[in-house]
Amino acid sequence: MTSMRVYTDSNITPEPWMAYGACLETGGEIFFPAVGDVETAERARAICDGCDVRNQCLTYALERREKYGIWGSTNERQRRRILKGQP
Ligand code: SF4
Repeated sequence: MTSMRVYTDSNITPEPWMAYGACLETGGEIFFPAVGDVETAERARAICDGCDVRNQCLTYALERREKYGIWGSTNERQRRRILKGQP
């Protein structure tokens, strides 16, 4: 079985776009870097930057107010800013 990050969380209902995520190739661990682990976060974001479903992923995370991890090339702080309408 593939180990795309979104399929590893039992709280998440898989959606069709998830089958096209670039993280299908990498597994999910790096998308939840430890606090302060900038290097791992940047590796995850670089994968997202080349992902065909980046926009869908970000929309999904914003709609669900995902508090943890890298989604659609954003971290938690960046998503909070987007939701607040801040640049
Ligand atoms: S944007 Fe990133 S986390 Fe989202 S599906 Fe693509 S690779 Fe995975």
